[in-house]
Amino acid sequence: MIHAKAYAAPAAAQPLGPFELDRRAVGPHDVLIDIAFCGVCHTDIHQVRDEWGGAVFPMVPGHEIVGRVAEVGAEVKGFKPGDLAGIGCMVDSCRVCASCRRDLEQFCEKGAAFTYNSTEMDRSTRTYGGYASRIVVAEAFALHISPRLDLAAAAPLLCAGITTYSPLRHWNTKPGDKVGVVGLGGLGHMAVKLASAMGAEVTMLSTSAAKEADARRLGAAGFGLTSDPATFKRLAGQFDLIIDTISAPHDYNQYLGMVRLEGAMVLLGVPPAPTPIAATSLIFGRKTLSGSLIGGIKETQEMLDFCAEHNVVSDIELIPFEKINEAYGRMLKGDVRYRFVLDTKTL
Ligand code: NAP
Ligand code: ZN
Ligand code: ZN
Repeated sequence: MIHAKAYAAPAAAQPLGPFELDRRAVGPHDVLIDIAFCGVCHTDIHQVRDEWGGAVFPMVPGHEIVGRVAEVGAEVKGFKPGDLAGIGCMVDSCRVCASCRRDLEQFCEKGAAFTYNSTEMDRSTRTYGGYASRIVVAEAFALHISPRLDLAAAAPLLCAGITTYSPLRHWNTKPGDKVGVVGLGGLGHMAVKLASAMGAEVTMLSTSAAKEADARRLGAAGFGLTSDPATFKRLAGQFDLIIDTISAPHDYNQYLGMVRLEGAMVLLGVPPAPTPIAATSLIFGRKTLSGSLIGGIKETQEMLDFCAEHNVVSDIELIPFEKINEAYGRMLKGDVRYRFVLDTKTL
């Protein structure tokens, strides 16, 4: 067993505090990673507050993990001690179903093993995430991180990066496409950076007027204040693709009005309650409403390589572990610029 220090939520909606746990011993196909940094995703907050149901406690959140390989199993080919490595939202999957064979492990027919608040594929060993000093993972689910990237700022690529990269690729984002990004938080700011790196003309759609200058600095060519109804009229029928990252319930119909003929809107945010969709929001304009879940391991590596090539990382605020509960409070108020990252040295 490998001992690790961690931070855990003891019960639903309780503040996180210090916790100790054991990881499995390093098996022949495993790598042991000394975690250097872990990003703080809004999913961590939904899960700690048990907003989606079925949360299991104590819970160690965190699925934007980067660090250095400390030890590798005898059969490991792709990593050696000292290498940089990352782990995102999954630590395993069945590897043989149709989805896994298509490199879409996030849609594994058996259910992927998610990095925390989940189980390993034996369906009994609980998984604990990256708010911790060390983690053991199968080599097949570890990612390579370029030493060219700032390591702390690369951590959020493991969830916010791949979650926004995957739909941009799936909907073939190309130079000149008009992409609207809804919600300027962790996912939203990565969507702006990645879509503009792909050559799209990006408009930021935000409830926060104070974020306009940042949106433009991140690469947005336009800005729409969504608390002003005139914005929805001004931008009606404009976008090839809208990426919606809002974490709270909101009216999708309003946003669908800004999608062009045969364009698409993709939901990434997971509000705790459903919202009605009027059929007419889709019928007029033969529009598509879709959703997207993180990305497969192969595509996550492709995204990390794309980010190394285009020098894309997250804008982060590095925090010590003792500030995690405060950081959650700030994220709930939309006060994040644009990803909190935990520094494992402070654990
Ligand atoms: P975040 O950093 O907290 O950003 C969310 C942003 O949404 C806020 O900054 C705010 O932007 C906007 N917002 C929040 N509350 C709002 C409200 N009531 N009305 C309108 N806008 C609001 O969160 P995140 O880490 O980017 O995560 C966003 C969502 O994506 C969460 O639900 C998370 O669970 C989900 N997620 C999904 C996947 C996936 O695979 N699909 C992966 C990761 C995360 P403005 O101030 O600009 O309005
Ligand atoms: Zn996440
Ligand atoms: Zn599978």
